[in-house]
Amino acid sequence: MATMLQTVHNHAPSEDNPFQIAQQQIKKACSALKLEPAVFEILKEPAQVLSVSIPVKMDDGKVKTFTGFRSQHTNVLGPCKGGIRFHPRVNMEEIKALSMWMTIKCSVLGLPYGGGKGGVICNPKEMSLGELERLCRGYIRAVASFIGPDRDIPAPDVYTNAQMMAWMMDEYSKIQGYNVPAVITGKPIALGGSLGRAEATATGCVHTIVEAAGRLGLDLSAATASIQGWGNAGSNIHYLLSRLGVKVVAVSDSGGAVYNADGIDYNSLYMCKQTTGSVVHFQGGKKIDPEEVLTLPVDILIPAALENVITAANAGQIKARLVAEAANGPTTYEADEILHEKGIVVIPDILANAGGVTVSYFEWVQNMMHYYWPAEEVNQKLQGKMIQAFRETYDMSRKHRVSLRMGAYMVALDRIAAAMRLRGWL
Ligand code: NAD
Repeated sequence: MATMLQTVHNHAPSEDNPFQIAQQQIKKACSALKLEPAVFEILKEPAQVLSVSIPVKMDDGKVKTFTGFRSQHTNVLGPCKGGIRFHPRVNMEEIKALSMWMTIKCSVLGLPYGGGKGGVICNPKEMSLGELERLCRGYIRAVASFIGPDRDIPAPDVYTNAQMMAWMMDEYSKIQGYNVPAVITGKPIALGGSLGRAEATATGCVHTIVEAAGRLGLDLSAATASIQGWGNAGSNIHYLLSRLGVKVVAVSDSGGAVYNADGIDYNSLYMCKQTTGSVVHFQGGKKIDPEEVLTLPVDILIPAALENVITAANAGQIKARLVAEAANGPTTYEADEILHEKGIVVIPDILANAGGVTVSYFEWVQNMMHYYWPAEEVNQKLQGKMIQAFRETYDMSRKHRVSLRMGAYMVALDRIAAAMRLRGWL
């Protein structure tokens, strides 16, 4: 277990240090709410950070040791919750920051969780299925005494998927000696996964867009949108927005970008992506520079790919009225201030993409009850949670004349501080 002391800077945090950014955002919201200094003092570091070595027998017979992490930020509202990231450049600072953002995200949605996050330094694209399975099982053996349905519940994240969650759940269950589906979410449906989980992030994001549009007086049936990142989240958002009458005029993926002023038909684009592997081969539009997707004159911009894509360098050129952050961390600290000054409304990631963790919560609840809901029930409950979280965030931002991002932090920290007070921590 490691606890690292960090300096909290009063000036803008370095754009590439996510841990400093997370600390700074929490500190700012604590000050705006005039919370007891102890709230930030407790939240500025994760409660526990575990670093583990995972020896894995590779296909060539050699043993290779991988480094893994698990960060548990706080359990003030309940067990920790957050994904496991497999990536060659994942590091402890990033995992700590991500666990802090999970605390805020869960609290904004009113979920009974604190934030957690895990990671393993590896390149899954260069590993066989067998090697990946042994790594997943090794990671769980290393952190088994640290996690559990009432302690810390992992889930998929970058480069981890439902199959990996199945191996991890199986390994944890073997250690316990009985089946423990609630130890991990994002599982396949056959092993206790929830209906509606695959589309949950997109569905939740679109609920927040509808709520924001209503307050902005934006008629969605006459609105245009562009989507950066036509993957799981981005493509489902395209589908759902089209059903509301929104014209999606530009989309991109790692292969490139396409544009059509009359709107891009979802079904035709889906067929193109299935057959060619990228939206860039779509015949119903013209190729554009992928950077342009962010700066087109549209009503709604949806970054749904990577971190740090809206920066101080391009924020001034963004023309959308509404930005819905389906991706995690697409807007840098400086860019966020520029958008706020320009009057562009940003639905922050901790709210806009929280549909995923919300349905993960529903999966955990169903696992604990051993009783499973139909998709309609899941979607109805998701809609209720997203709308309530949006309203609370919006009201907080109006009351304090701050951005929706700061409003969401304030909703989350208000709830966390109340729990700390009741527990006698302050
Ligand atoms: P995904 O891998 O299915 O899709 C990502 C897409 O982004 C792919 O189409 C990829 O080609 C594209 N992309 C990569 N580099 C790009 C670039 N430079 N320009 C344009 N497009 C690029 O991933 P996803 O699950 O859709 O997640 C997307 C984002 O949403 C991530 O930031 C993720 O953290 C966030 N998110 C996803 C979920 C979820 O449940 N899927 C939940 C919360 C947050």
